[in-house]
Amino acid sequence: MNHMFSHIRKIPAGEDSFGTSPFKAYTITNFDEIPQLDRLPEETRFAMRAVAQVMPFRVNSYVLENLIDWDNVPDDPMFQLVFPQPGMLFDKDMAAMTDLLAKGANAAEIDRLAWDIRHRFNPHPAGQMELNVPTLDGQPIQGLQHKYDETVLFFPARGQTCHSYCSFCYRWAQFTGDKDLRFAAKDSKDLSRYLRKHAEVTDLLFTGGDPLVMGAESLSNYLDPLLVPELDHVQSIRIGTKTLTYWPQRFLTDRDSDDLLRLFERLAENGKQLAIMAHFNHWRELDPPIVREAIRRIRDTGAIIRTQSPLLAHINDDASTWARMWRTQTGLGLVPYYMFVERDTGAQHYFEVPLARVWEIYRDAYSQVSGLSRTVRGPSMSSTPGKVEIQGVTEMGGEKVFVLRFIQGRSGDWVGRPFFARFDDRATWFDDLRPAFGEDRFFFENDFDAQLRRNAAE
Ligand SMILES: *Cc1c(COP(=O)(O)O)cnc(C)c1O
Repeated sequence: MNHMFSHIRKIPAGEDSFGTSPFKAYTITNFDEIPQLDRLPEETRFAMRAVAQVMPFRVNSYVLENLIDWDNVPDDPMFQLVFPQPGMLFDKDMAAMTDLLAKGANAAEIDRLAWDIRHRFNPHPAGQMELNVPTLDGQPIQGLQHKYDETVLFFPARGQTCHSYCSFCYRWAQFTGDKDLRFAAKDSKDLSRYLRKHAEVTDLLFTGGDPLVMGAESLSNYLDPLLVPELDHVQSIRIGTKTLTYWPQRFLTDRDSDDLLRLFERLAENGKQLAIMAHFNHWRELDPPIVREAIRRIRDTGAIIRTQSPLLAHINDDASTWARMWRTQTGLGLVPYYMFVERDTGAQHYFEVPLARVWEIYRDAYSQVSGLSRTVRGPSMSSTPGKVEIQGVTEMGGEKVFVLRFIQGRSGDWVGRPFFARFDDRATWFDDLRPAFGEDRFFFENDFDAQLRRNAAE
């Protein structure tokens, strides 16, 4: 078994045959050094700088040189994916921020305004901080979330950044300087102890940030301790990542790329299914040859790659983009997993698409791909009570309704039961929906309220 995947080809560190440049990151502090921005009017750059005071911004050389079509800026979806856009702030906030910058206000003043704006942007949607933190011997464990029985989320402390930031990120608040907005993480001992006590957990999801910004050694410090008989019930380990898009070199030419792949192999050899949960928002991210080589190397370790993305205005809000993305993924051996609805946080007003339209795009794209791509589920809203899937729009007893179901629920008993909301062509999130057929409440709400009361009493 030892050299099951020994055909992993060694690539000399720092070299790749794809001609990509060394890693260089840009943030708000060296924004003006981004060479490609020279072609944009100063006014545009100024507006982007203003937004980047509020929303996290980070981009790297690979993204600038290989993903963005600079002849198509600002409409280019990859440009929209990483660069702050003027429309992301409301006019009033934008005016206040540009005023401060124009008059050369000091950092403290700018930070104060940025903080104010962020706190009006629902930084922690779906009760993330209060509702899902598990306890061990009566003590809350930070950096762990356990919302659905089978799956524990783990936020390793060193994996709380990314090679580049997505402009729409629903975890955006973690990446601002505000300490009180961070979902703190913890070392692996608590994780192991917690999992030993929870035999119902079959899946562990490493998330962030992007855990693959960590070195192979750090990652191994978290993962190798899980390869013990007492944790046999944890059969799948998922790693949520955008590294295939933002730094595919991670799997080829980073100093420890081969160690990383060997760690992946070790999980497979020890009976764990490793799932790389890759975030792809657009088929363009899959085009560079280096991405395809990275995918090949990951798959050679025995890991499976599943894919997910929200549907976003300005980036992927049409069916042909999704159909082409799913088809491309399936052709590369990737498994489409989730289509999400843009969450009710951050610059939601910029990226949101009405639910009725989201469902139309989903259905239109789904109908254009073969059954092998129809592993995808959605459109799904990760709301406080659970993941709610929009199954469709139809008419029942003379009323136009959304047909919904939980694909995950805070209570397992809610899952898979069809339920109905009044049709509303402006609704963009679950909270906008009201029960159909003159009902006061959705079927799960009494039960949910009781859970919240129990939670508050604890
Ligand atoms: C989506 C999600 C999971 C995983 O659900 P699956 O249906 O197994 O993919 C686990 N925990 C939380 C909080 C989630 O949002």
